[in-house]
Amino acid sequence: MKNEGKKETEQTKETEKIKITPKNINENESGSEKQSFEVDRRSVYRCVQCGTCRSVCPVFDVVGWESANTRGRMLIIKSLLEGRPPSEDVLSSLASCTTCGICASKCPAGANPPEVVEAARAQLVKCGITTDAQKNLKSAIITYGNSFGETRGRKHWLSETERSKLPERSDYVYFVGCFDSYRYPGFAKKTFDILQRFGVTLLPDEHCCASPLLRTGFREDAEKVMQHNLEQIRKVGAHTIITSCAGCYTTLKNNYPEELKVISLPEFLAEHLEELNLKKFDLTVTYHDPCHLGRHNKVYDAPRKVIQSICTLKEMKNIKENARCCGGGGGVRTGYPDISLELARNRLKDVPEGVDYIVTSCPLCVRNLRDAGGNIEVIDIVELVAMAIE
Ligand code: SF4
Ligand code: SF4
Repeated sequence: MKNEGKKETEQTKETEKIKITPKNINENESGSEKQSFEVDRRSVYRCVQCGTCRSVCPVFDVVGWESANTRGRMLIIKSLLEGRPPSEDVLSSLASCTTCGICASKCPAGANPPEVVEAARAQLVKCGITTDAQKNLKSAIITYGNSFGETRGRKHWLSETERSKLPERSDYVYFVGCFDSYRYPGFAKKTFDILQRFGVTLLPDEHCCASPLLRTGFREDAEKVMQHNLEQIRKVGAHTIITSCAGCYTTLKNNYPEELKVISLPEFLAEHLEELNLKKFDLTVTYHDPCHLGRHNKVYDAPRKVIQSICTLKEMKNIKENARCCGGGGGVRTGYPDISLELARNRLKDVPEGVDYIVTSCPLCVRNLRDAGGNIEVIDIVELVAMAIE
């Protein structure tokens, strides 16, 4: 899988698009033809193949194949429903969707392609068809409770004394997530330092929220992980869960088998601006809307309110419902790193001139946008708030 680089002619331009063949497809002996492929037909047939989504799908933008855009994916799923046996091509098409949801927001027929894609991925898993990347991700979460296969304790960023002083019960709990626990423990510490002022505690034994399992089709495994976290929430007696990861947020809010009250960190901060008494800075920043916080859950105003209480906000070219995906979601960062990074580079093109930082409110977006290598520093909203508290 290589980005062939920019070439001169139209013909070579076509071939320079990123290839999306996943390595090492796994097919178990249950065999695709022995399993029926079941996805809600009404959701699939809602697509009238108008092609409106072709102009917005960020993966199609960098891959250029019909099978890598929303309409192509919907057609492939339709053909699977009508008896086509699942194959490597099918997996490439379905596994390369970031579930960003911009197609759903533009679809004139009211189709919800990312939901259909996730349901189809679950069917592929049922048929025993997965990529190595998906299989490894699942195995890390099931074995170690986190998506990185880390063996360190999840609260390693707290000292022994701090851990021993954590309240056993509280109305509010901070759900840290795999990314902040293991890749950005500094964000976790800053977030918890702020939240502790409001009596917030941590779960005794938090596991991955199950988002990577749900997005890649491992629904049965996700059930077990979600049940584990629900038991932990019950132990603490919390009625509200606060999280700073967009993936954890949408999963806890929309996918858990029990209804939970979930708030994102920007929403919590926006509600408590007076108590936080933040300093103002002579800075200009821009804000990247994470797909799973913004488009999927309409959390647009809270992060902007927090930012504007500290400094000047200069908006990106495409914002809120039109924000372009950072490329990190839906298992694409793990399975198709070239595509993922190209999406992040495209997103950086939306950054306006004259800003000091790109602020976002999801650690996966931070990571992907940083990896894209722009010349403006990408920070999490908690870093901006922590600066304004100090
Ligand atoms: S998903 Fe919606 S926008 Fe895309 S082709 Fe189908 S009907 Fe058109
Ligand atoms: S959810 Fe995003 S990546 Fe997936 S098909 Fe729709 S626009 Fe493309």
